[in-house]
Amino acid sequence: MRVVRAAGPDIVEVAEVTSPALKSPTDAVVSVTASAICGADLLPLSGHVPGFEWGTVLGHEFVGTVAEAGADVPFAVGSRVVCSSTVSCGTCWYCRHAMSSQCEQMALFGFSGVYPRLDGGQADLVRVPHADRVLWPLPEALDDDAAVFIADILPTAVRTVERAEVAEGDSVVVLGAGPVGLLEGLLADASGAHVVMVDPERRRRVEGERLGLRAVGTDEVLGVIEEMTTGRGVDVAIEASGHPDALASALAIVRGRGMVSVSGAHFDPDRPVDVGRMFAKELSLRFAMGSPTDDRARVAEMVLSGRIDPRPLITHRFPLDAAAEAYRIFRAHEATKVVLQP
Ligand SMILES: [Zn+2]
Ligand SMILES: [Zn+2]
Repeated sequence: MRVVRAAGPDIVEVAEVTSPALKSPTDAVVSVTASAICGADLLPLSGHVPGFEWGTVLGHEFVGTVAEAGADVPFAVGSRVVCSSTVSCGTCWYCRHAMSSQCEQMALFGFSGVYPRLDGGQADLVRVPHADRVLWPLPEALDDDAAVFIADILPTAVRTVERAEVAEGDSVVVLGAGPVGLLEGLLADASGAHVVMVDPERRRRVEGERLGLRAVGTDEVLGVIEEMTTGRGVDVAIEASGHPDALASALAIVRGRGMVSVSGAHFDPDRPVDVGRMFAKELSLRFAMGSPTDDRARVAEMVLSGRIDPRPLITHRFPLDAAAEAYRIFRAHEATKVVLQP
């Protein structure tokens, strides 16, 4: 079978390898029908994942059908399923309290080093541990294009907007118009908020406008805040870029008692945060990674009810064999969401 793997820094290769086999009664093997590329897939390629093993198969956003199921897996062969991006144990304190993103035995598909190695789903076949928990049977009405978003980024966006406590009439600025930021903008808009997307890249702003959102450049932010709030500051800022300067901007543009909610990935342990301002303005700062295993059913319901349709974010599709080109255009920000179809 074919896999897409990170063969070295900035090297994506399609390789022929032995098909995965069940290792435990709770394992399943999934035959992948669609697998999206995520910004997090770029982290090991750019050397941001300590201890990453070259050769790890990439991909943590995939849907498919069950090809083989262990004795303790409650899905029949042939069932359509979406796989959660992370594997969680189901028994630790966090899992028992529906906080699977903090599971003590967490693993992320397509990663090694920071977590135990778990080969990902940009492949013809993928082994899924704890399949009884990690896989979720797809309702017939949810097509593959919508379902790939349930694996990771839509639950992340939902959590981030919920933790921001966005309410009808709120002024909301989303910093970063990548796929997660765009979903957050759409969700805040669906809540009746006044949403402005901010991104320094013109292509991403155009993409936001194509989806019906207002989008401005970073140099226009202060003018927008003046216009929306007579300079008071916005009710909510959502940081969706992972850039440290964007986090500082988010804290600077919210009003007193405002809320900053962060889905961007931050790794810097030494970056200063202006706690003086946070105290004086009584600000709240929250982070969200998303818990697809806990949230997928209600997130799917949001899609089925029409509250949010993530599918227009897919701008490109490639066969698995063209994965290197797919990664190139995704990394160059020439695409919004890219789907690989084995
Ligand atoms: Zn992802
Ligand atoms: Zn756990």
